[in-house]
Amino acid sequence: MHPIRFSDVSDSCTLLKPDLENAFAQVLTEGNFIKGTPVRDFAQELSKYLQGSEVIPCGNGTDALQIALMALDIPPGSEVIVPVFNYVSAAEAVALLGLVPVFADVLPDTFTLDPASVAAKISYKTRAIIVVHLFGQCADLKTLTLLAQKHDLFIVEDNAQSLGAEYIAADSTRYFAGTVAHIGTTSFFPTKMLGALGDGGALFTREEELATAIRQIASHGQSRKYTYERVGINSRLDTIQAAFLLVKLKYLDTYIEQRQLLAQEYDQHFQDSRLIQVPGRAAYSTHVFNHYVVQVPAEQRDNLRTYLLQKQIPTAVYYATPLHLQPAYYYLGNFYGDFPVAESLCQKVMALPLHPALTLEQVDYIISCIKEYEHK
Ligand SMILES: *Cc1c(COP(=O)(O)O)cnc(C)c1O
Repeated sequence: MHPIRFSDVSDSCTLLKPDLENAFAQVLTEGNFIKGTPVRDFAQELSKYLQGSEVIPCGNGTDALQIALMALDIPPGSEVIVPVFNYVSAAEAVALLGLVPVFADVLPDTFTLDPASVAAKISYKTRAIIVVHLFGQCADLKTLTLLAQKHDLFIVEDNAQSLGAEYIAADSTRYFAGTVAHIGTTSFFPTKMLGALGDGGALFTREEELATAIRQIASHGQSRKYTYERVGINSRLDTIQAAFLLVKLKYLDTYIEQRQLLAQEYDQHFQDSRLIQVPGRAAYSTHVFNHYVVQVPAEQRDNLRTYLLQKQIPTAVYYATPLHLQPAYYYLGNFYGDFPVAESLCQKVMALPLHPALTLEQVDYIISCIKEYEHK
């Protein structure tokens, strides 16, 4: 058995090596390292994949969030609601723009925004909600959209972890995650669903006016070369990364299927486990399992992780600390006890290895080691 890796950054690239080398050679020959044709081609292909939503590439997923908030023209001092159990990007982008991040708690089974907590945080200063589709599954967009409409708020979908997941509306219509609200954002960081060989990101929108604003903001606010229509930033997807992404996009659905197959194997074996609580599945979403995150009783989690590491099984904790307890966000004035679900999840969550290059045999080995620990 091959060594088990937590993520597949180099494994899947090895399989695609000839294609990636071809892409590299072509970019080298053409010499357009910035804004070369692969950037436009990739945006078009991804747009097709997303059933026509406009795709505007940018430098990374964090920039994408910042550009989204800039395009929505939210006045400084306004409040933007973000999940407290999350990667740092959403809160960071909000704070950087002179807006106020307001944390909301998440649901204990699916880890995504709890609409009740969001509702409690809406004030007359609230202008937007950043809805994060965490670990590969959509948040409760239906309830959150109703809330947003009622209070006249924008929704930005942070889809960095769930590209390819589908949101299932009440009438059973399916929409790709990130294409439902005003603006969606994503990341092509190597370990995401569609990973580049470096940094990359994109924004999605169906509104032409927003698409124009986003395009300008990502390019120094230019409407034409050297005409600065508004204050922008410099955030581009490199030609070379676009060329790599064009190769990898063809395999996105295959990768998703492989991830789902492995997740199902974990699910089945841990169904009746008293140690492992499998990730909750929402009826309103498919799950693409960017991460397979289980919950383990707090007093056991770190022991189990050490035990697994001795068996050469790497695990990870997303996330070990809720954002309100991170030094950079103390100034917002939250305390321990303010977000009980997030605080408890941070003690219990553990991500098991899951990626397209992992085999069923490896997953079964991981399962058997966990069962061994459980019955020791
Ligand atoms: C990875 C990630 C981001 C940021 O993406 P980068 O490309 O690393 O800037 C933002 N939000 C979430 C939820 C993420 O997982």
